[in-house]
Amino acid sequence: MGMPHRRPEPASLGICVYNRCMPDTIFIKIIRGEIPSHKVYEDEHVFAFLDISPLSAGHTLVIPKEAKATLGELSDESAAAIGRVLPRLCRAVMKATGASAYNILQNNGAAAHQAVMHVHFHIIPKLDNAGLGISWKSTAFDHAKGAELAKSIAASVQ
Ligand code: 5GP
Repeated sequence: MGMPHRRPEPASLGICVYNRCMPDTIFIKIIRGEIPSHKVYEDEHVFAFLDISPLSAGHTLVIPKEAKATLGELSDESAAAIGRVLPRLCRAVMKATGASAYNILQNNGAAAHQAVMHVHFHIIPKLDNAGLGISWKSTAFDHAKGAELAKSIAASVQ
């Protein structure tokens, strides 16, 4: 038992767990400099660059260097590094674009509109009509079900 065996692999094979290797995502290639990007920030754990198909000027992607597909898979170390730098990058994007409002978008899973399977946070300035469009279809809250769900979620936090 113990941790899954991870062995270093040639760059083109990406992450391997047991005998299953995932191909590198485009974001890993951007971190490595194999694909060009307009970089705005880099430290030991985090990389940030402009989105190639921006919803508005200054649309920025903030990614961990750790190659994980969804937010819940991130190590505490990467999560802390992202949390530390994200507000600073928001301030920088707002200052550079002159925007006074913005959205943070973070998609997990294809059904939730994630196209690149490497964790990323979008910083999307709201500039006139440009920016993130949101369709927010809220539903009625059921207090009995809500109480059960809250209990179940609380019991699952690790
Ligand atoms: P998702 O839908 O996965 O949350 O968003 C992925 C984002 O990555 C999209 O906004 C898309 O424009 C951006 N993107 C995809 N490929 C590239 C690329 O090669 N370079 C850059 N800079 N952004 C990319």
